[in-house]
Amino acid sequence: MVKAGRVRKRPIRSCVACGRSADKRDLVRVVREPGGGVAVDSTGKRSGRGAYLCASAACLAAALKSRRLERALSLAAPLPEAVVMHLQASIGSAPSAGGPQDA
Ligand SMILES: [Zn+2]
Repeated sequence: MVKAGRVRKRPIRSCVACGRSADKRDLVRVVREPGGGVAVDSTGKRSGRGAYLCASAACLAAALKSRRLERALSLAAPLPEAVVMHLQASIGSAPSAGGPQDA
């Protein structure tokens, strides 16, 4: 019998720093927008070329040090400071899964 193949409901992406494959939603997406800007995509829905990173300070540090994000996104210039800060902020204080903002 020929099976149609497994339906992948969860897209798997790999971290640019450590190469670990993970559910897309467990990774932080950085996107190069069509206009040339770079943004941290917290919704996963922005259009543009994306690169993924574990929500891990170690992977962020490694990616920044070796310029893996720039390479993955084919950026001519270093990652903008604002994006680096945004990444540090979102990775450093990752909210617990699906929780509402606590007061
Ligand atoms: Zn990683």
